[in-house]
Amino acid sequence: MSEHALTASAQRDREYALHPYVDPKVGPMPFVVTRGEGIRIWDEQGREFIDAMAGLWCASLGFSNERLALAAYKQMQELPFYHCFTGKTHMPLIDLSQRLIELAPAPMGKVLLANSGSEANDTAIKLIWYYNNALGRTQKKKIIGRHRGYHGITLAAASVTGQVVNHQGFDVPFERFLHVQAPDFYHNGLLGETEEQYADRCAKELEDLIAAEGADTIAAMFMEPITGGGGVLVPPRTYYDKIQAVLRRHDILVVADEVICGFGRTGSYWGCQTMGITPDILTCAKALSAGFQPISAILISQKLADGIAEGTHAIGTFGHGYTYSGHPVPAAVALETLRIYDEMNLVEHTSRVGGYMQAELRRRFGEHPLVGNIRGVGLVAGLELVDDKALRKNFAPSMKVGAQMVALCEQQGLIVRGCPNDTIALSPPLIITEAEIDVVLNKFAIGLDQLTQRLR
Ligand code: PLP
Repeated sequence: MSEHALTASAQRDREYALHPYVDPKVGPMPFVVTRGEGIRIWDEQGREFIDAMAGLWCASLGFSNERLALAAYKQMQELPFYHCFTGKTHMPLIDLSQRLIELAPAPMGKVLLANSGSEANDTAIKLIWYYNNALGRTQKKKIIGRHRGYHGITLAAASVTGQVVNHQGFDVPFERFLHVQAPDFYHNGLLGETEEQYADRCAKELEDLIAAEGADTIAAMFMEPITGGGGVLVPPRTYYDKIQAVLRRHDILVVADEVICGFGRTGSYWGCQTMGITPDILTCAKALSAGFQPISAILISQKLADGIAEGTHAIGTFGHGYTYSGHPVPAAVALETLRIYDEMNLVEHTSRVGGYMQAELRRRFGEHPLVGNIRGVGLVAGLELVDDKALRKNFAPSMKVGAQMVALCEQQGLIVRGCPNDTIALSPPLIITEAEIDVVLNKFAIGLDQLTQRLR
């Protein structure tokens, strides 16, 4: 738990607000954030932090941007709301849909807009079921996710999510959802097994699951190109080739969840490009609007769009849509965000600065006795802290080593994130510079030294 005093606002927060990822009886204490600028935020006591998590992996342009503020203001003055039901539409929705199709890592047919990553994935699941119903494949409905994968917390998205904490107490996953192992070579690789062989074994596990369930019952598999919240897992190089070959063979759709990886995070525009995935459906959110406005998108292939159109024609209308699908204000902010990405040469910048961050992490912490494994590509990384490096053994969960490290970093004015297996994630705003990476890693090093002293 962080150690700052409970202010009056924090007390009111405790009284009135229910928070994600908090034990209301234990903590951590409310941390009242009041202001942001560049890669930094300030709390109500005036303490300054570099947010090396870009909030929740989303504030790609940091915590201040005049152009995005103006884009929202201008749109609110021109047309603050309109919907897209019954054929109504507006320019931000049209322009953003077109731009996303142009940017997509594989040919895509249509775009649907929503408000969050969870909604995007939930919608994707609905579209998959709707599509298979339209084709008369009424049994082909099961969805495969991966353990430790994260796809959000609405009911269907939480079902494909593979994290226990998002299932316990919520009566999910629903029946139609299956999970295969996390692509975690560090822990799941066998003694003497190469990454290639491990990838073969993952593909075999998938093939066996499909055989056991029946290919005609399985509709799609969801994958984050690089697993984010589950501990920054970068699958072995040939993993996706092998997994996709299995899925294609059984006519199972590939869904790429680009909610974290999309828009330069991994050093390519899309995680699919970094990892070699050709999706039938792509979902994105977060950096789509630099986190400044809630918005997400679902891109579907022409094949799906055609099937959905056929099904809809038979029913008479498409019975899906949110009041705020394609809301003009977030859509205008997203469009301006994408323009800024173009102007800042996003991919060149994130691959260069990300390459620097990855190299420095390995150079500075690779030999550290507490750091068992360093994973990541581009501007997303995870350092797994371990009790025994040779045995790849984690600390007892009751020691909360990850949470201790997060708190120690906070004392240094650095925000990082604790993920499963005491993996500490870094996912800084994409505007970060090499010099700022150095400052982040200096603070991280102090936190790690203090943790080492404490555990000794
Ligand atoms: N998918 C991924 C990969 C995510 O990391 C997240 C959120 O962190 C989501 C989906 C859910 O997005 P949201 O929190 O906007 O619903």
